[in-house]
Amino acid sequence: MEFYELGTCCDDCVMAIANDDFTGMEDAREKEVRDGIERIGEYLIVGEEYGFSWRRCDVCDGLAGNRHDVGYLA
Ligand SMILES: [Zn+2]
Repeated sequence: MEFYELGTCCDDCVMAIANDDFTGMEDAREKEVRDGIERIGEYLIVGEEYGFSWRRCDVCDGLAGNRHDVGYLA
């Protein structure tokens, strides 16, 4: 398998990817995050903290906020 850099993802996605933790998300929000992860695949890996970005989250398409690097194995 090879590592592919995908871009950056939001704090909610980090929790979901790293810990399978959806605590504190409303149902609709949880679905966005789950759908985003499913769309990309199951081998997502979270990297270094990136900081604030206006770019949308590359996993769930969420709005601007704190970001982490994210990629996947395929
Ligand atoms: Zn996200």
